[in-house]
Amino acid sequence: MKRTRFTLVRRPQGRPVEADFALVEEELPALAEGEFLVANRYASLDPAIRGWLDDAPSYMPPVPLGEAVRATTVGEVVESRNPAFPVGQWVVGLHGIETHSIGRSDGFASPVDPALVPSPTHFLSALGAVGMTAWFGLERVLMPAPGQTLLVSAAAGAVGSLVGQLGRLKGCRTIGIAGGEAKCRRLVERYGYDAAIDHRGRDAEAIAEAIRAAAPEGVDRVFENVGGACLDGALLALRDGARVALCGLIAEYNAPAPVGARNLWQLIVRKATIRGFLVSEWLPEWPEGIAAMAALLREGKLVVDEHVDRGLDQAYAAFMRLFDGTNEGKMILEIA
Ligand code: NDP
Repeated sequence: MKRTRFTLVRRPQGRPVEADFALVEEELPALAEGEFLVANRYASLDPAIRGWLDDAPSYMPPVPLGEAVRATTVGEVVESRNPAFPVGQWVVGLHGIETHSIGRSDGFASPVDPALVPSPTHFLSALGAVGMTAWFGLERVLMPAPGQTLLVSAAAGAVGSLVGQLGRLKGCRTIGIAGGEAKCRRLVERYGYDAAIDHRGRDAEAIAEAIRAAAPEGVDRVFENVGGACLDGALLALRDGARVALCGLIAEYNAPAPVGARNLWQLIVRKATIRGFLVSEWLPEWPEGIAAMAALLREGKLVVDEHVDRGLDQAYAAFMRLFDGTNEGKMILEIA
């Protein structure tokens, strides 16, 4: 039996180009004791993948050259030498962008039941790492009080669109930053943001001015997904005692060198706190977050948008949407 894999053939310099990757067909090795074979249906395309392509110290080892690009996938077990993952079982796991992945009992894989959700893609969005990032980032890092002003960057994206909605449910006033008029309209009309700011063509000072126009007294909480001018602008518009959750810095993932923040002095002026976090910090508590998100979904209180592109041959183009901002919701690749 053969499988097709979207492999890394050379480490990207700055913005990845298509020649950094190759689609490779190979014979599947026989399963060892404890292993199981997953026919992947969907792969989650995440900004974090960009970091795993570099040979640099991080919270995970780099993707080895010649290997499938690492991604969370959801699919069905089609062959098994592991009783905990029998044939027919659906599995979410940190595997690869490939038709088939070999799972191991000591790997990161969990059985899931697709009958419980409208679509198995939800295990990669609201009920997956993205949903948990929004949930734990708010519940454990920002802990906003009702009436506080919450600012979110990449607010129309997978994480940001959920953060805005969860913040609103907690009684916050929400301000979202996104790229372009259409996305800004979506922030207000679809995700319930109270105000939207277009970051395109604006430097940090102009972004700060727009934030202050929407929140004259400053913002209490910042959920930062972007960095660069968005973070620098937010730092210029903090209220005293503000808290910033540093979730991601997508504006610098393709930069040749770190961009950094220029307005850190504002943390001193505003007696503010900044705290970086990884969603995996709360892995043992994920069932609690998943149950909470599932309940909100059942009650019709959450809009979940997913942008699904089809085919392994579209993996590169689909991944790059994240950096061009052409994804409308959680970026997912349909493999089968
Ligand atoms: P999104 O669905 O938000 O897609 C990325 C979006 O980022 C784009 O649509 C675009 O939105 C925006 N963007 C890209 N490049 C730039 C740029 N140069 N300047 C400004 N905006 C830009 O992705 P996710 O929701 O999956 O991820 C959002 C962030 O959360 C990322 O930084 C990611 O690394 C981080 N993250 C962190 C986790 C953690 O554990 N700490 C876990 C999961 C995600 P627009 O068109 O509006 O500009």
